[in-house]
Parts: sequence; C-alpha cells; structure tokens
Amino acid sequence: MKNVTFDVAALIMLAVLFVTVVIRKMTKGTSNRLFLLQIVLAAISTSFDIFAVTLDNYNSQNIFLLNFAHMGYLIVHNIHPFVHMLFVISLTDTWHKIFQNPAKIVLFILPYGFDVILLATNPFTHLMFSVENGYTHEMLFHTLYVCIVPYILLNVVYVLQYRALFNRRKIFSLFSMTVLSFIAVVLHLIFPELLVECFAITMSLFIVSAGVLRPEDYIDSFTGLYKHSAYAHDMKRAFFNDKHVNIVMLNIGNYNTLTSMVGYDVMTDVLNKIAATIADVNASLHGDADLYFLDRGRFRMVYSEKDRDKAKSAAEALMKELKKRANINGLDIYFTPYIVLARCPDEIESFKSLMAFGQDFHEKNHYSGQVMLASDVYDANAFAIHNNIDTIIERALENQKFEVYYQPIYSISSGKFASAEALLRLFDEEHGFISPEILIPAAEKSGAIHKIGEFVFEEVCKFVSGDEFIKLGLNYIEVNLSVAQCMHGDLADTILNIMRKYNVSPESINLEITETAASYSQRVMTENLNKLARAGLSFSLDDYGTGYSNMKRVIQLPLKIVKLDKSFVDEQHNPKMWIFLQNTVKMLKDMKMEIVVEGIETREMVEAFSNLKCDFIQGYFFSRPICKAEFIDFIANATLGTSSEE
Ligand code: C2E
Ligand code: MG
Ligand code: MG
Repeated sequence: MKNVTFDVAALIMLAVLFVTVVIRKMTKGTSNRLFLLQIVLAAISTSFDIFAVTLDNYNSQNIFLLNFAHMGYLIVHNIHPFVHMLFVISLTDTWHKIFQNPAKIVLFILPYGFDVILLATNPFTHLMFSVENGYTHEMLFHTLYVCIVPYILLNVVYVLQYRALFNRRKIFSLFSMTVLSFIAVVLHLIFPELLVECFAITMSLFIVSAGVLRPEDYIDSFTGLYKHSAYAHDMKRAFFNDKHVNIVMLNIGNYNTLTSMVGYDVMTDVLNKIAATIADVNASLHGDADLYFLDRGRFRMVYSEKDRDKAKSAAEALMKELKKRANINGLDIYFTPYIVLARCPDEIESFKSLMAFGQDFHEKNHYSGQVMLASDVYDANAFAIHNNIDTIIERALENQKFEVYYQPIYSISSGKFASAEALLRLFDEEHGFISPEILIPAAEKSGAIHKIGEFVFEEVCKFVSGDEFIKLGLNYIEVNLSVAQCMHGDLADTILNIMRKYNVSPESINLEITETAASYSQRVMTENLNKLARAGLSFSLDDYGTGYSNMKRVIQLPLKIVKLDKSFVDEQHNPKMWIFLQNTVKMLKDMKMEIVVEGIETREMVEAFSNLKCDFIQGYFFSRPICKAEFIDFIANATLGTSSEE
C-alpha cells in the first residue's frame, strides 16, 4: 500500500500558498505569473498522483483510468524543472537572449517534448510503464530523469552566471527546488511506498515565495508603485544584460519647499496623486511602462527599447498634467516638474551614472517647463569623473600629478599684492582638468583629503620658506581647509610639524575655513583651531555669505580675515544689496576684521569695493590662479612696475 499523506499535505499547503500569493497581490508581471503557474501545476500533478495511487491501492482494473492517471501525473510532474527554468529566466530578464534564436528555442523544448511524446504514446508502446498487472516501470522509464537533467544543469549554471543580480537568500531559494527534488527522488527509490516528490516541490515553492518573491521588498505601500530598491535592481539588471530601455525621469524640483509648507502627511497625499497621474498617463498609452516611486518627489517610468515614441508622449503628457495649478490644503501651488527622457545604455552608459544623475538633475539645470533630453543635459565626462574619482585621486597621488596654483590678492591700502591663495589643481590624462569643486568633496568622502591637504600645505611651506618668496615681499599665503580636514584629530599637529620641518613662521600662513565649516560646533574642530591659533596662525572665514551662518559660532572663532563671497559681488547693482554690503563691511571693520572681496573681474568692481573700504581684492581682474613659476614672475613684474612708477 502506498501512502498519500504527503500528497494530501502538499495539496493543502498549495491551497494556502495560492491564497497568500493572491492576497499579497503577486499576480502581475511575468515572474509572478510563472510562479502562480508552478503552484497550479504542482496542485494538478499532486491530484493526479493521489488519483493514480488510490487506483493502484484499490487494485483497479480500469486500464483507461490507470493510464490516464499515471500518464497525467508524469506529464505534469515532469514539467516542473522546465517551468522553473522559465521562472529563473524571467527573474534575470534575459528572454531576449534565449528566445531570439529559433535553434535555442527548439533545444530548450526538446528534452521535455521528448518526454511528452514518450508518455503520450505509452498506452500503445508500453515503453515507459505498464498498468495491466499493477503499475510497473518499463524499459525507458528512466529517460524521464535523463530528460530533466539538462534543465537542472541549466538552472544551476544560469543562477551562478547571473549571481550578481541575486543576493545569497535568493540563490539559496532558487537552488532549493533542485536540492529538495533530488532528496525526494532518493527517498522514493529507497522507500517506494513514500510519495514525497510533490511534497518536495511544494516545500521549494514555499521557500521561493518567502525568499525570492517578496512584494513588500519592492512595492511601495502608499503609492502602489515599485520602490527605489526595485528600480535599482531592475536597472542594474538591464545594464548587466545590455537590455535597452527608455526612461522617463521625473524629479519634483520644489519637493522640499512644498514639504516644509504643508507637512509630511499632506505631502504623502500629494505624492499619491502624482503617482495616480503617472498611472493614468501610462494607462492612456496602453500601460506598457514599469512605474516607480523612488523617494522625495522622484518618479520613473521605464519603457522598452521599441517604445521610444510612447516614452516621449508619456513624458510630455506628464509635464502637461503636472504644470497645472494644484490646490493642496487650501494653498494654490505649482509644482516645478523636471522631466528627463533618457535612452539607456545609449545615452547614460552605466548603472552608477544613471543613479547619480537621477539624484539631483533638478538642482543642476534651470527649470524650463519642457521635457529635457538626456543627450542635452547629461555630461558623460563629468559622471565618468564622479564614478572614478577614487581611482583618479589615487593615481594622481601616486604619480604626483597634483599641483598647487596661486591667485594673487591685492591690498587696496598699500596698492600692492600682499598675499595669495593656494588652490589645488589636477590635470588627469584621461579626463582632463578636474575642478576642485568636484575633487575636494569626493576626496572628503573617500578620506583622501587628508593626504591631499598635507600635500598642498607642504608645497606652500616649501614655497614660503624659500628665498624667492622673501624677495617677492608678500606677507602670507592663504591655504584652504575643508570641513573634513578640520574634523581630523591630527590636523593641528600635522600642520605644526610641517611648519617646523620647513622652519616656517606662523605669520607666513593664513588658514581659510569655509562658512559652513565654521558653523559646525564640533569639539575636534574647536580644539584644532584653538591649538593652531595659540601657535600664532591666523584664520580667514571663506565664502562669507553663502552658508547659513551660525553668527554666535563665527564670533567665537579666532578670525583675522573675512572673505566676501563672489555672490555678493555679482549682486552689487541691487541697491538693497549695496546697503547690506555697506553695513556688513562696517560691522566687520568694527569687529577689527580685515575684508577680502573674492571674484572681482572688472575695473568697475575694483573701484566700487575700494570705495566701500574693503582691505583686499582677489579675482580674475588681476589674475587667475597660476602655477608657482608664473606667479613668481607675475608678482616680480608687478612689484617692478609699481617701484618704477614710484
Ligand atoms: P575658494 O576657496 O572660495 O576659492 C576661490 C575660487 O574662486 C577658486 O576656484 C578661484 O579660481 C575662483 N575665482 C577666483 N577669482 C575669480 C573670479 O574673478 N571669477 C570667478 N568666476 N572665479 C574666481 P577653484 O580654484 O575652482 O576652487 C574652488 C574651491 O575648491 C575653492 O573655493 C575651495 O573651497 C576649494 N579648494 C581649492 N583648492 C583647495 C585646497 O587645496 N584645499 C581645500 N580644502 N579646498 C580647496
Ligand atoms: Mg578659499
Ligand atoms: Mg571663497
């Protein structure tokens, strides 16, 4: 007597699984549908098994029913490895790789097709099994196992080949079908009365459902769209498979402002409405896109390669809808929707660049109210630098490619150049000139800033301790310190050690800290600055007027100089700004601070700020930052010029 307990248990479990899958809304998309199909097939094969075994147990003599039950079971049961393989292909999104080639399709179907033919003709051939004197295996029965092997092998190879797309949990889950089926077959061979094969498949479907298909991992519960993690996963997979897609990227430019105006709860409703608008636009174009809500007002619609026109229409329709006035919480507001249409990987070549570009393209482009094309707004070189900045910095440090340039600073009272600012320069052989605006923040993140900072400081110390510098008659050189440098416990000691090494007196150096750095009230920074001030070094407050100054902090710092940022200079024609400048200068002077104006480009600006009684002027009007040799010539000539005039 064969025991159907495991089969009955499997059937109950499959019913539960089916219900949970439907409740969890795992019914959309190819992978979900293939998973549902596996549950249904498992239920059918288990039912056939129960039917067949019951007939056997009761010694049925109905040849037709016996053939039907055993054949049905074997045909449906053996389709599992085949469908499971389709499921794995859909998870890797590589249909286009397998099914564009008819030979591959035939090869793929052949083993299972062969099984089906053998089983369907068995009532006449009796090659697989016979039922006349009880159910017995015949000569070719083991062909069934042989034909399954290619699918199992392909499954293993495929998962390993695409392991970059899966985490360990998923890989384990996807292998569970093979491992459990193998154990079940062995058990069945040892204990023929134990029918555990359907139970094994059911168990593995449970494992896959828990480990692979987790809608809570990728569907946002508020908007019902796919989440950021799903977008990251799907895009990574598309780049990995060289699958071409058209992406409509929407960033709401004024998301932060709106949130601070109406609060988080209302903004959640607003985002839901935007999500609904996107879903409507998609539906009106026959719903071919995958829709994602990333975070903070960022949404994406992803179309296939052939749907370029649809993507374009969707982008335009979305722009039109979102430009309309909206009423939120009694306020009439306008969104500033920034929409970019990008063809990947043609226009944005890598996953990393796509993600970095999508982060803040709304901050880097002017709002035009028009759909922008990635070919116009995406600068591949800038992103290549961004993505490879660590390697670029390492290479530059290794090959000594960093240079220090100097920009002269003019003293209004003495009519001479009194000092200069040291500025970092890097010319990379692959990417060309790399601006410190990109370099410094990246170096801060990677920690390379400390080495770079030491290099700049050492170069300056070498320079100011040399005879040439003394001859130039300059008072000091200003050196920039970034936030990360100021937060490093060793900063003061490093600086003092380098100065000792080159015998540099503290009057020859002025350290610039930015307004943002100054407003951090961090203990390490305060200790560093106080230690350096005690050693006789002076400080400038750089970029004054650009950050949100914590005035209390600024006043507490040992500052000698304040550098008015270029943005003040650019606004000088605004009468209110001029009044503000006059009073700012007066206030700083009353505090006994010296004032440098940055970014002076014209004679008119020089005159205006001289009249304001600022002390120093720095800008392209006198000179751009130049290399040391040019700088020495520049100052020597300027001094010669002034002395010959005297
Ligand atoms: P910063 O310290 O405010 O330096 C002044 C920036 O303004 C320099 O840009 C300079 O080239 C530019 N500039 C000077 N005069 C004019 C002008 O008349 N018109 C215009 N449009 N620009 C002018 P640069 O060299 O690109 O440096 C950018 C920033 O990178 C610096 O701003 C500074 O914060 C940082 N930086 C540069 N070198 C270093 C360094 O060695 N260490 C650290 N920590 N930061 C550095
Ligand atoms: Mg500076
Ligand atoms: Mg500055």
